[in-house]
Amino acid sequence: MLAARRAVRLNTIATRAFSSSVVATSAQRKSLFHKLFRIPLDVGAIGTVLATTWMGASIYREANPRNQKPQTALTAAGAEKKSIVILGSGWGAASMLKDLDTSLYNVTVVSPRSYFLFTPLLPSAPTGTIEARSIVEPIRSIAKRTPAEVTYIEADATDVDVTKNTLKIKFPESNADAEELVKEVKYDYLVVAVGAQPSTFNIPGVAEHACFLKELPDAIQVRKRFLECVEKASLYPEGSEERKRLLHFVVVGGGPTGVEFAGELKDYVDEDLTKWMPSIAKEVQITLIEALPNVLNSFSKSLWTYAQKTFAENNIELILNTAVNKVTATTITASTKKKDGSVEQKEIPYGMLVWAAGIRPANFTNHLISKIEAQAGARRGLLVDENLKVKGTENVYAIGDCAFTGHPPTGQVAHQEGHYLASTFAKMAAIDDLQSELARASNSDERAKVQARLDAALAQIKPFKYNHLGSLSYVGGEKAVADLVWGSFSSTSTGGAFTYLIWRSSYIAMCISARMRALVAADWLKVSLFGRDLTNE
Ligand code: FAD
Ligand code: NAD
Repeated sequence: MLAARRAVRLNTIATRAFSSSVVATSAQRKSLFHKLFRIPLDVGAIGTVLATTWMGASIYREANPRNQKPQTALTAAGAEKKSIVILGSGWGAASMLKDLDTSLYNVTVVSPRSYFLFTPLLPSAPTGTIEARSIVEPIRSIAKRTPAEVTYIEADATDVDVTKNTLKIKFPESNADAEELVKEVKYDYLVVAVGAQPSTFNIPGVAEHACFLKELPDAIQVRKRFLECVEKASLYPEGSEERKRLLHFVVVGGGPTGVEFAGELKDYVDEDLTKWMPSIAKEVQITLIEALPNVLNSFSKSLWTYAQKTFAENNIELILNTAVNKVTATTITASTKKKDGSVEQKEIPYGMLVWAAGIRPANFTNHLISKIEAQAGARRGLLVDENLKVKGTENVYAIGDCAFTGHPPTGQVAHQEGHYLASTFAKMAAIDDLQSELARASNSDERAKVQARLDAALAQIKPFKYNHLGSLSYVGGEKAVADLVWGSFSSTSTGGAFTYLIWRSSYIAMCISARMRALVAADWLKVSLFGRDLTNE
């Protein structure tokens, strides 16, 4: 009996010891789980709350701009307030306006386009991956978020008198009678940021028959043309020559515009057209023609190879070493340079041709160049000094694609130049104030003190320095390539699905407003849920 009781007690002790060891192990496990998952979960939750709050606050702030100071004749220091006229509403102009202290000058923006266009996502617009309106921001909204009122005139600048500081403008046809109201615009400083235009190299037939991908209406036209070809092709019997021609989509130019668009178009065909019109989708052929031996020549070598390999995997035909030299409504004539030095001429039937063969100075830029003696010989844009002042002028500046600075014609460069001019103009306003203070100084002591401050302010105006942050390009099939620059010491080249995430996050970060960021993210989500449609609008 005693032995039995002892056995029960021992058993109870053993069970307790066992169960306490189980409890200890599960507690340990719990704390391990805690350590492994709790911290990232907490960080994630806090991050999400912070990001949502920040996004909400930004959207609220953008939608409810504060009252602006009115334009005035005099500065706070009592001097005559100078005027700045900015030509354009693209990367250079919008970046400058966004950062400019508009209370220091009377600012006017003249541009035929009433909105800023986020060009990096333009190749996604024709296929509907991004809605056209998601990548635009009205220039008036950007202006409204600055400290003082800004005048906007929807017109083209047509002529400048750099001796009289006046500008001639042309209103759109629909508003032509407005010329009676504004005959010319006066300026103290002029900032030319009119961009560039697609280059056809005067190749016969390009201007008449090709689509371009430079502005928003271009993207809408490309979509229309593509779907017209698809609908028309569906009327022809499978395998017929005319159906094949209509379904041959050709991109000319293997720079980032051509590569990104070819990739986007292929995604559309493989992911969406194939669902709704499978027999058409399987006959679609996408070809990219490039005059040089490789595509994406401004990227590093490993990335051309990666892009070309991805194109081959995705069944996008690449025709390299081939320059297009004539286009008709249905055919492209191109000559291929062969390894033995001979040249082979090809005739390629096509349904839609997208011309992405580079850019040239806008007509207005060429006109300005022709009027300024010091610009003689300028071929690729207005020649500027280290402060982006147009050579041969006292008060005209040029930024972005219309200026030749030796940097590539990119949004990144135009953005940094716009930012630089905004801060330079703030410094120049301080200099103007000190100069009028100097003129008013009553004795030599006071004059010397103001002069010292003026010298220090003048020394603050530093030359423009471009800081290259890297280049990114989408290549299709949810893959992207990137040349990334980390400070001044190292640069990384990469390609693939991870880079695609970097590409998407970078472009979201680069959007000019929280509204644009939200719309772009919503478009991506919408397409991942519902796909892209076939509406010809
Ligand atoms: P733009 O942005 O072209 O703006 C020019 C402005 O001037 C427009 O508002 C126009 O209406 C206005 N204008 C024209 N004529 C007149 C006139 N006579 N009077 C007044 N206003 C006038 N760069 C990058 O860094 N990263 C990218 O990912 C990238 N992707 C791109 C994708 C595509 C499809 C394209 C076409 C370009 C891309 N770029 C990219 C290049 C970039 O868009 C340009 O370098 C940039 O837009 C140049 O800025 P800008 O201000 O000089 O000219
Ligand atoms: P691009 O000048 O970079 O490329 C044009 C290509 O067309 C060149 O490779 C050229 O050899 C080829 N070409 C010219 N004439 C031809 C012909 N007759 N036949 C066949 N090929 C011909 O032009 P883009 O891609 O429109 O870019 C313009 C600018 O915008 C560049 O500075 C570019 O860096 C920038 N951009 C950047 C991005 C990005 O960073 N993701 C995207 C688009 C554009």
